[in-house]
Amino acid sequence: MFYQSTRDSSLKITSAEAIVSGISRDGGLHVPESIPSLSLDEIKDLGGLGYPERAQRVFSKFLTDFSEDEIKNCVNSAYSSGGFDTENVMELRELKKGENILELWHGPTCAFKDMALQILPHLLTTSVKKAGVDKKVCILVATSGDTGKAALEGFKDAPGTEILVFYPENGVSAMQKLQMTTQEGNNVGVCAIKGNFDDAQTGVKKIFTDPEVAKVLSDNGIMFSSANSINWGRLAPQIVYYVSSYAQLVHDGKISLGEKINVCVPTGNFGNILAAYYAKKMGVPIKKLICASNSNNVLTDFIRTGVYDRNRRFYTTISPSMDILISSNLERLIYHLSGGDSEYVKSIYSELSATGRFEVNDDIKRSIKELFYADFCTEDETKATIGKINAEYGYTIDTHTAVAVGVYDKFVKDTGDCDCAVIASTASPYKFPAAVLEALGANGEYRDEFEMADRLNEISGMDIPKALSELKTKKPRFTGSVEKTEMLGAVYSLLKIK
Ligand SMILES: *Cc1c(COP(=O)(O)O)cnc(C)c1O
Repeated sequence: MFYQSTRDSSLKITSAEAIVSGISRDGGLHVPESIPSLSLDEIKDLGGLGYPERAQRVFSKFLTDFSEDEIKNCVNSAYSSGGFDTENVMELRELKKGENILELWHGPTCAFKDMALQILPHLLTTSVKKAGVDKKVCILVATSGDTGKAALEGFKDAPGTEILVFYPENGVSAMQKLQMTTQEGNNVGVCAIKGNFDDAQTGVKKIFTDPEVAKVLSDNGIMFSSANSINWGRLAPQIVYYVSSYAQLVHDGKISLGEKINVCVPTGNFGNILAAYYAKKMGVPIKKLICASNSNNVLTDFIRTGVYDRNRRFYTTISPSMDILISSNLERLIYHLSGGDSEYVKSIYSELSATGRFEVNDDIKRSIKELFYADFCTEDETKATIGKINAEYGYTIDTHTAVAVGVYDKFVKDTGDCDCAVIASTASPYKFPAAVLEALGANGEYRDEFEMADRLNEISGMDIPKALSELKTKKPRFTGSVEKTEMLGAVYSLLKIK
């Protein structure tokens, strides 16, 4: 299995090369040349296995240049070495018959990003060896909050790597900020930028693809790679939990083998829902992919009309990890739906960077309509959903998950389709305690996020994750911020390049 670029379908590289480089030199994203299939029998067999073995089966279809042992070492280091607070790594929680919450936040940073970022450093260091690279790898991350911390945790003190994270100064929760600024490790750097997530992401992409910068790094024995969901090594691990969820539902007798399910995903950069698309294409019986957005509903409009238009107001919401107007991974979907037409992708993406807008052709519009359903939740709807789920089921969800649950309710009302559904739950409510407490009618005077967490604990009865409660005693190490035009300087300074 080889990988191509969305902007150059003649590119032919191994998965190790794709993982090492992160983004393609032409500015495109790496995609598998074909999507491997899983038979229903193979899926059924997964039901009897633990999460690491399920991951191994899925990875072996995509990372064909890795040996079985290499894959095994990676999945075991990530998923069976105690980093997750549940042995199953993910949990399916049935709210009511046919409505399942897929808890993806049992990792060390309490957000679903851990599902991929706990394994990415292992995939990357293995890939570096396999690709015969003799350089130090510098991981550059733009984060809307959760990726940054998850990447820092995954890469801290990983041999042969340095990691630098940029986050929007006013675009993350206090808990998220503290998680990042207190990060330990000798190869880490964290820097706030005066701008929003899109500014951070655009800045990172620019540094990443600048040949002059690459030359400077290379002269210093360093190369860039990415831990953002533009890296194929981030996406592949996300496919696993959709396959795994289906296998689990069959195994638990909740559905029969072959029965179709709907999948609803709270979406920002389009990585998580794209993984569900890949799972569907592999053969997992998924009917609709339900794309849930917050007030930054550029994807809702796109899926409904085929017009992607980022020229709109940017909202800072209570689900900050979804405050995104340029959803990078959409480029991969469009590439696949265009039948691998990299010239087409190149033309619409140069239009996007010139005008902030593009419109896909009728064929692609039709495919998107068939595959996806899209809607969004306002801030009030999101809060109301948290309250409703708590009242009805005694279960507390975070703001991002609430967007998904709210949109799923709209989907059911709109379509009458109540077939079995999996709703991705992407963060622990303790990561966003202020908004969750307000939604539960418990807003008041709190000294800090830790007092909020204690109150939330009283209301929800859910344990406070240790990784969050221990932040209380940690001192911030990284307090600087830079203009969005000064990001390159921050990179050189971390790498001690003049
Ligand atoms: C990153 C994130 C999302 C959005 O996921 P994408 O893959 O970027 O679409 C949703 N919820 C939470 C909590 C996140 O951290």
